[in-house]
Amino acid sequence: MNKQSESRSPLTLRSWLERLAQTDRLVVAQPGMELKHQIAAIGKRMDTSKAVLFPQPGGHSIPVVTGFMSRREWIAEAMGVDNSELLQAYRHAAENPLPWQEVPAGSAPCQAVVHREVDMRTLLPIPTHSEHDSGPYITAGLIIARNPDTGVQNVSIIRIQVNSKDRMAVLMLPRHTWAFYQASVKKGEPLPVAVVIGVDPLTLLASQAIVPINHDELEIAGALHGTPLRVTKCLTSELRVPADAEIVIEGRILIDEREMEGPFGEFPKYYSSAEKREVIQVDAVTHRKDPIYHTIVPAEMEHLLMGAIPREATLLAHLQRSFPGVQDVHLSVGGTCRYHLYVKLRKQREGEPKNVILGAFAGHYDVKHVVVVDEDVDVHDPKQVEWAIATRFQADRDLVVISGAQGSILDPSTTVAFAGEEIPQEMQGISAKMGLDATRPVRYEGHVFTKVHVPGEDRDPAQYLQGPATAETRKLFAE
Ligand code: MN
Repeated sequence: MNKQSESRSPLTLRSWLERLAQTDRLVVAQPGMELKHQIAAIGKRMDTSKAVLFPQPGGHSIPVVTGFMSRREWIAEAMGVDNSELLQAYRHAAENPLPWQEVPAGSAPCQAVVHREVDMRTLLPIPTHSEHDSGPYITAGLIIARNPDTGVQNVSIIRIQVNSKDRMAVLMLPRHTWAFYQASVKKGEPLPVAVVIGVDPLTLLASQAIVPINHDELEIAGALHGTPLRVTKCLTSELRVPADAEIVIEGRILIDEREMEGPFGEFPKYYSSAEKREVIQVDAVTHRKDPIYHTIVPAEMEHLLMGAIPREATLLAHLQRSFPGVQDVHLSVGGTCRYHLYVKLRKQREGEPKNVILGAFAGHYDVKHVVVVDEDVDVHDPKQVEWAIATRFQADRDLVVISGAQGSILDPSTTVAFAGEEIPQEMQGISAKMGLDATRPVRYEGHVFTKVHVPGEDRDPAQYLQGPATAETRKLFAE
């Protein structure tokens, strides 16, 4: 499935940047760009066209890189597959994890330099991104934690606000890191975590896999690489981290401490408000000899795609288990690559699209609006999906609405009813769900639901065209 293992040594962050550089997809900024807003502003403007490397950001010796995974076809390229195989290849890796390979502690590149006394405000070049952000945020930090009960690791990306010399506040969504933290709290112990910054594209993608708890995303990284991921033990905990990472922050999420976190501009292109949230106590920082710091500009394509592709792959797998007629899914960019799911269905029976809609809501709590379309509609083209809604959907019979379900706490419309009040954690993110069956009837008269097609329109007409009008052909429309 994966060509990586056949033709190349495992992809690293540095080899990927080199490939981008050789193909004019990486641009180097002037030295000394400001960490506050300037890096994010430039990264945002270059998003989907080029990755940007910032030497000496804010005078810091560690360079910052951003935007190296901001196109769907770059992600497919990193995985060694065609765009059309992307979801199947990701799914194959998620379902066939490869156990990691341990590199002795101390000999891993990510531990070449060790800092026991740290000041997070100056040690790393951490940018401040959006206008109303509370300050510098680590946005591309893989949080690695261990289930205190089973010892199985979890990887996720969690936003991290640098609060002081050795303390950082985090927003944990109600998923696996949160569950491990709850188990730790029950035991009365802090939860050891590692924050890994600067990993290869495939490990980054693997961190976003939507797999059950106790499935180690680093093993999915191995499967994506086609070879076990090299890991090494942290200096201050039992955690295993990618040995070839650029930077590793070791610490613990404290059990009784809370500090203010936010506001922060998030993927839905809105700010999350400031609230008291959990705190990481930093114990050590290790890094490569000349490390590179990766930042993801929030709500831009690198951020959105990183979430979309693993979600699409798992939602497709989830739906196909119950509905073999499901052919493709897409989380649209306008729906922040999280909230709007388009499903392509080869419909066999009436009613089936509504079952698909219900199944999709169960696939991930972020899915808010689902549109089911027929196989003649390209779910990657929002214009075609809108066309299907315009011509194959009747609101009184084709609409499904569910009230009071769990939604995304980052969707601001879920919290409007509570404006001005403190919302208890268990009440956050309550959301309605809506499904649109935009499929045509299975049986219809004549060509009433046949999409207009001109025979030959799919062929490139180049061979039939003369080219620009010449003096001779201009005579055809001479006044
Ligand atoms: Mn997980």
